[in-house]
Amino acid sequence: MDGGIVIIGGGTAGISVAARLRRAGRRDVTVVEPSAVHHYQPLWTLVGGGRAPVSAAARSMASVMPRGVRWVRSAAVEVDPFARRVVLREGGEVGYGHLVVCPGIQLDWDRLDGLPEAVGHSGVSSNYSATLAPETWRLIRETTSGTAVFAMPSGPIKCGGAPQKIAYLAADYWRERGVLGRIDIHLVLPTPTMFAVPEYASVLEDVARRYGIHVHLESEIVQVRPSAREVVLRGPTGESVLPYTMAHLVPPQSAPD
Ligand SMILES: Cc1cc2nc3c(=O)[nH]c(=O)nc-3n(C[C@H](O)[C@H](O)[C@H](O)COP(=O)(O)OP(=O)(O)OC[C@H]3O[C@@H](n4cnc5c(N)ncnc54)[C@H](O)[C@@H]3O)c2cc1C
Repeated sequence: MDGGIVIIGGGTAGISVAARLRRAGRRDVTVVEPSAVHHYQPLWTLVGGGRAPVSAAARSMASVMPRGVRWVRSAAVEVDPFARRVVLREGGEVGYGHLVVCPGIQLDWDRLDGLPEAVGHSGVSSNYSATLAPETWRLIRETTSGTAVFAMPSGPIKCGGAPQKIAYLAADYWRERGVLGRIDIHLVLPTPTMFAVPEYASVLEDVARRYGIHVHLESEIVQVRPSAREVVLRGPTGESVLPYTMAHLVPPQSAPD
């Protein structure tokens, strides 16, 4: 398969690029993707917020693969740019004329001290995983008083809005249930403002004020202590400890190894 276009990853990017190339008339498009399931990740926020079932975010990979695109069901483990070939996990290789690399971003759960032990139980969840998003909704439903912590890590992450959106969905649910006043909500953001675009930042400040959310800017959770149900927050004035009844945490993320 020399001279064709090879796309690594059949996520949102890979499938979209493959579809556009097919529509533009290319007949030599190959997608290298190991997973049998394609996840529409933006919906996971609504799963965590109780507005959608997790099954609605999953499709079989075969059903989203554009017609006429060749699907190689394997993971790419190496790219040799001189020989123009992608080496596959199961052995074998695929040659290319052009290569599109879109394997997504990886979740580094263990880069936040205590997170791997805490997440999925101990009142901690994360919409950044299809299996955990329904747990977020369970925690929101079961919380009727106490302290709720929502946090975003520093560094690049997919969907800069997702760590905030779940806080607003939760707060609105608690408002509907009449328990909002009994829950102390903290939103921990590493950024100096609530959003990089000033017009959006000022709207979000109003939203947070309306729900009584305490916003911690230039701050980050640096440790989770599941047995004590508390998190350590590092902000501009140093470290402090926040107890939590429930917490929605987002793992640090990085380019795939
Ligand atoms: C909770 C949450 C909420 C979000 N909300 C929004 C939103 O509201 N709006 C928005 O625009 N975006 C949102 N996003 C972000 C959006 O989902 C991502 O930006 C998008 O999925 C990125 O597409 P991608 O194809 O780069 O990566 P992915 O969709 O993650 O796909 C990567 C694919 O590459 C495959 N892969 C990985 N490694 C290899 C390998 N070595 N070889 C071959 N294949 C490989 C994986 O199996 C996967 O199928 C959200 C994300 C999350 C997690």
